[in-house]
This record gives sequence, structure tokens and C-alpha cells, in this order.
Amino acid sequence: MSFDRARERMVAEQIQARGLTDVRVLTAMLRVPRHAFVTSDQHEQAYDDHPLPIGPQQTISQPYMVALMTAALECTPGSRVLEIGTGSGYQAAVLAEAGALVTTVEFVPALADKARGVLASLNLADRVTVQDGDGTGGWPAGAPYDAILVTAGAPEIPRPLLDQLTPSGRLVLPLGERELQVLVRLRRDAHGWNEEYLGACRFVPLRGVYGWQDD
Ligand code: SAH
Repeated sequence: MSFDRARERMVAEQIQARGLTDVRVLTAMLRVPRHAFVTSDQHEQAYDDHPLPIGPQQTISQPYMVALMTAALECTPGSRVLEIGTGSGYQAAVLAEAGALVTTVEFVPALADKARGVLASLNLADRVTVQDGDGTGGWPAGAPYDAILVTAGAPEIPRPLLDQLTPSGRLVLPLGERELQVLVRLRRDAHGWNEEYLGACRFVPLRGVYGWQDD
């Protein structure tokens, strides 16, 4: 099966079939060549309904989870988005194809380098900036952001991220235990921070100051 056909099936059978209808997100998922973000021995599985390993302690999330998180951020064209945990760069590419201007921060320099290369080869370098560092402190130089996405499991809400949102900004993150989290969306309301629970999920541990200290 061609990659294009595999991608069409992925969107229809894994994403639309689960009830996600946001056209901007579906179009972005159709555009981004997921196989470009994995090693060639994983090309056959690139469009399958599960996460894929991209190195020790890192995975590229299941396609549906990427789509769900992208939709949860409620981006519109030109939205400024911060991602914590670049990994392969796939999620950042999907955000960019959905119209966002993306800053993404990665703890592991070798992964950041690799992601920069792939994103450049897809002509996305002008819409995605990959930064090295601990993203639990956010990336103040680019703040405020319309939306912030954490793609590693957090034991607590990193406070600096809330401070880097616009007044109507959204923070989406997997929050909870090391092995199992809940995807949470936070935004301001009249009383403070409103929390919505978007479902159970399983991410690799977030490291850094507001992450899991023993990792
Ligand atoms: N979004 C990625 C997958 C993320 S896997 C993709 O689309 O491929 C989680 C990533 O978060 C890993 O690459 C890990 O190194 C990174 N990470 C963990 N803690 C971090 C931190 N404090 N700051 C930045 N990146 C972090």
C-alpha cells in the first residue's frame, strides 16, 4: 500500500471513526508524512494504530492521540503554540499544518537535531522552531502563547506554563502517575483555572524541574 493510501486509511479508520470531525486537524493529519519521522525499518508500521519507539524513553504518539491533542488546543491559523517534548517532531509538524506557528522544546539534544532536519526537509522550518532545553520552564522568549501542549507525562502542572498563556490560552497535558495519566485541558474562567478531562493516556515521563526528578 502506498504511504498516501495508508495515511487516508489512518485518518478514516482511526480518527474519523472515533468521532473526531475537526476538518483542520483531519487535513493536517492527511498532509504530514508520518513515515518521515520514524526509521526506515518502521515504515511499514508508520500508519498503524499505536505509538512507535523513537529512542530510549521516547515514543511518537498514536496517530489518534496526536489528532485529539491537536483538536484540544483549538488552534486557528496563525495561533502561537508551544510544545514541550519535540521527540520526532511529528506532533509539531501536525500543529504547523493545522495553521499554528510552533515553538517546540526538547530535552535531548540529539532528538532536537534530528527533528530540525526532518522538519526542514518538509519545508516546515519557517513554521516550527525547535529549541533545546527543559521545557517545564516553558520558553519565555516566545510568550505569550495561545496554546501549550506537553507531550510527556507530568506529575504536576508546571506553573511557568500557565504564566506563559494569553488570557484565553489553553494548556493541554497528560497529568498523573508515571505509567498512566489523564489528558487535561486548562483554561481561565471567572473563578480561576477550569480543568477538563479528555481521557486516559500513557506517555513517557516528563523530566526537568517540574517533571519526574529521578528520571
Ligand atoms: N511529541 C513527540 C513525542 C514526545 S515523546 C512526537 O511527536 O514525536 C516525549 C518527549 O519529551 C521525549 O522526546 C523527551 O525527551 C521529551 N522531554 C521529556 N521531558 C522534557 C522536558 N522537561 N523538556 C523538554 N522535553 C522533554
